[in-house]
Amino acid sequence: MIRNLFLRLKFLCALSFVLGSFFMASCSKETDEFEDQKEVTADDESDIASERDVWSFDVKVMLDRATYKLYFSDADIVKKKLQERFDDVAALYKGKNGINFFDADIKFNPIFDESNVYDSSSEDVFVNGLTYRGDYPYLLIIDGCIGDYAGERVHSDWTGWGQEIVCLFDNGLSAADDGKTVYDILSKYKTSEAITHELGHARGVPDIYAMEVKTNPICNLIFSPVKCIMNVCWGGDSWSEYAQLLINRNKDLVRGEPGFCPLEEPPFPETLTLKMLKGEQPISNAKVNIYGSVMYSYTVENNSVSSYTTDEDGCIQLNPESLFTGTNGDYKYGVVLLEIVSSEEKYYDFLPVYEVQIPYLKEAKDNIQLDIVT
Ligand SMILES: [Zn+2]
Repeated sequence: MIRNLFLRLKFLCALSFVLGSFFMASCSKETDEFEDQKEVTADDESDIASERDVWSFDVKVMLDRATYKLYFSDADIVKKKLQERFDDVAALYKGKNGINFFDADIKFNPIFDESNVYDSSSEDVFVNGLTYRGDYPYLLIIDGCIGDYAGERVHSDWTGWGQEIVCLFDNGLSAADDGKTVYDILSKYKTSEAITHELGHARGVPDIYAMEVKTNPICNLIFSPVKCIMNVCWGGDSWSEYAQLLINRNKDLVRGEPGFCPLEEPPFPETLTLKMLKGEQPISNAKVNIYGSVMYSYTVENNSVSSYTTDEDGCIQLNPESLFTGTNGDYKYGVVLLEIVSSEEKYYDFLPVYEVQIPYLKEAKDNIQLDIVT
């Protein structure tokens, strides 16, 4: 399903990184470091290359003219730097020390030549992203010189859902400066991780960091989601089981192909049974109030979204899709707070959306039961 990119702004991945290193000062050192890493990676790959499938995706890359000039307007230099970054991306998907996160090696292939240099605002490229993307499954828009055109988005970095467009913008100063400052946005620093994260969305994974709870007016408990590359905007070196299941599920499919499950259509079982336990004893005939925490709000809502009473086995049954998703069907609550009221006592526990989805992704059962042990 293709959706309008501009309706997706609530999902902005508010990456706002500062590239501290100016191109001329830093590129030679980074290249040396990269060469060291590359040797190790190449050796590892040659050992097992024959045993692993490869899921390969082309990414058309658009680059702003000012940054292109930094690379001496030489497409071969840009291609080399892009390949370095995308080799880093492949390594982050693959994992180190013999870990294989996914059922196949995942490779994104940068497609670039001089015709991909744009002489306009990156905002214009973004607005017409579908045209620029053409028949490629993914478009990466890079702007290393923000502010040289009117109306450019400053200090942001995000993915356009539904159109598979990833933007990588940076002015390094958090403010427009009339295009005076141009950064080596294809340097190693943070760029590889940011592309990895954004393409993780394109493969079907939501922002796990958006599920964090920092403010809770109900009971003051906070919640930290599972460790994952999708739990930070850039950085990290591991993929959660949740992300692995979602990405494996899509194999080498892309949007529009039968069987592809996009990010905005999260998978859920038909029913969810929650069994409330105190130790091993069911908490029967207890009231259960459910409070939501909207993605990116980091806050539990003041009012409950629904209430249930446990049966004699301590169970309640609900529709997880209607609990966790919004009216448009995609993620609304990243986590819910369960308040269990039994006689004079109250118990609390968080239930993140991925704890419901993980067993469903593994077993594909219509009903999933989870024990809530207080
Ligand atoms: Zn993100």
